[in-house]
Order: sequence, then C-alpha cells, then structure tokens
Amino acid sequence: MALEVDRLRKRFGAVQALDGVSLRVEPGQIFGFLGSNGAGKTTTMRIVLSLMRPDDGTVTWDGRPAHAWPRRIWGYMPEERGLYARMAVIDQLVHFATLYGVTRAAARKAALDWLARFRIAEHAGRRLETLSKGNQQKVQFIATILHEPDVLLMDEPFVGLDPINVKMLRSALLELRDRGRTIVFSTHQLEQAEALCDSVAIIDHGRIVTSGPTREVRRSTGHRVVRVAMESGDAGWLGEMEGVTVTRGGADYTEARVAPGVDPQAVLRAAVRRGPVLRLEVADPSLEEVFVELVGAIEAEEQTLAPGAGA
Ligand code: ATP
Repeated sequence: MALEVDRLRKRFGAVQALDGVSLRVEPGQIFGFLGSNGAGKTTTMRIVLSLMRPDDGTVTWDGRPAHAWPRRIWGYMPEERGLYARMAVIDQLVHFATLYGVTRAAARKAALDWLARFRIAEHAGRRLETLSKGNQQKVQFIATILHEPDVLLMDEPFVGLDPINVKMLRSALLELRDRGRTIVFSTHQLEQAEALCDSVAIIDHGRIVTSGPTREVRRSTGHRVVRVAMESGDAGWLGEMEGVTVTRGGADYTEARVAPGVDPQAVLRAAVRRGPVLRLEVADPSLEEVFVELVGAIEAEEQTLAPGAGA
C-alpha cells in the first residue's frame, strides 16, 4: 500500500509543466513536496486527485488507479481556498462533509470539536468572510478532513498562519498521521517540512531533483555542517581548512560547510587543538541548504546554457 506516482507528464502549451514526475509516498507518512513557484507541485496534486488528466504516466493508491477509488478517500486543500464566503462556518462544514456521505449529526459534532480545538468555536455561526484570513484557513482545513480521508493533499497549508496557528496545524497533522492517514503537502517553508515530514521530494521545472526520507535527503549532497564556538570568540581559521567554507560567522558560534570527502571529525580535532572550545557539533545540512544547493545548481547551469547568457 502506497501512493505511487509514475512518470507523469503534462504540457500546457509551450510549458512542459511535468516532465516525468515519479514519487512514492508510504502510507501513514507525512510527505513534503518542495519546489519553487511554477515547479509543478499543484499540477501533480491535481492529477493525483483526478481533477486533471496527465498526458502520460499513472497514479495508483494501494495498487489501484487513483481515479478508481471513491472520492471520499481523498482530502484536498487547494491553494485557492474554495469555501463560500457568505455561508456560516458551521453550515458549510456540515454541507461539505455530507457531500462525502457523513451524516449531518456526525458532521456537526466533528466540526464543532475541530472548531473548538482550533480556538474558533465562537465563530461557528458567523459568515466565513467575517473571519480573519488565518481563521478562514483553519476552517478550510477542517472542511478538508471532516470526512476522514485516507489521503490528504494540501497546497501550502501553512501560508499566512501565525506561529500559534502553525503549531496547532502541525499537531493536528501529526495526530492524523498517527491515526494512519497519509499526508502530502506542498510548501516553500522548508523549516516546516524539516520539522514535520517523514519524507520529502524536491521538484524543479517538472522534474524530481531528489526524494526520500528527510534525513537521507538532507545528507544527499554529501556536505556536512559543523558549528564551532571558541572561548576566544575567533573561529575564522575554519575557513582556511581545505574543503571548509564558513557559512555563518557570529558572536555566538561559527557555522561552516564541510565538503564531501572531508572528514568533519578532522575539523573538530583542529578546534580542540586550538582550544578552549565552548561548542562543537557536526550536523546535516538543513533542507533549505540542500534545496538551494540542488535547485540553485540547476538554475545556474540553465543560465549558462541559455542563449545570450554571459554576454
Ligand atoms: P507554486 O509554488 O507557485 O504554486 P507549483 O509548483 O504549484 O507552483 P504549478 O501550479 O503546478 O506549479 O505550475 C507548473 C507550471 O505549469 C507553471 O509554469 C504554470 O504556469 C503552468 N500551469 C499550471 N497550470 C496551468 C494551466 N491550467 N494552464 C497553463 N499553464 C499552467
């Protein structure tokens, strides 16, 4: 059982939006779909949900074509949030859930529970348009999950939420995952993906650049990161070491990138020799660093290949 996306291709006029996208999302996982604007995330999700046909390629869930499953196994939170501005919050939550076969009574109870959990119970009877953007987004999220879909796809669910609401949404997603739901969301906020996702894929210009368990993706460039704080306050010598580039200097600590093939332990030993040391650690690069390195490299290459580049 898994969500398998196999060699999707989709063209819009001159734009090859998807150029052979393959992914595998394990059941019961949170999967982050990362890419720049226009990379192909929404198009992929819309094809998974059978809202759009691919030119080529297939999508299966648990071995059966995605479109052969009943609509109620899927939940979708689109980027352009699709609720009724003038309808009362509780009325539309009940309305959408009943479209998926939930009884009115069950939908009402679940909706009120979720509204309370998201601290917006007092808005249940108000028209949606009278709520703040962030609160409307929480309503949209509730509308997406009330029918208890097995697979949840969300386009940028964290955009526009304040830190408290981000925390609430994160804990809701973790809880749904722990109840066996499979969750895919797109985001530009790589720190959200890093904190939440079991696996991620990075997509660029309709092609998957890398995908896999978050930890493996963070290690995929072969770089490591070291953080050093010397009692003397001076760790500038790091940059003189072969294969070591200082990426962040600062009063509290210095961070450096260690090239593939260079042993980060050698850096640590050098720090100890120069002693006294206040802080010493080796870490994986962040998803953001990996993203910039992998996607940035492709963009740089494209610029050199583009006609007229470098002129
Ligand atoms: P964003 O992060 O900005 O939401 P995305 O990764 O979701 O971007 P898509 O919306 O999938 O990207 O778009 C992929 C490419 O396909 C873009 O170049 C976009 O302009 C193009 N595209 C998407 N939908 C259509 C459409 N209906 N008609 C024409 N072009 C489209």
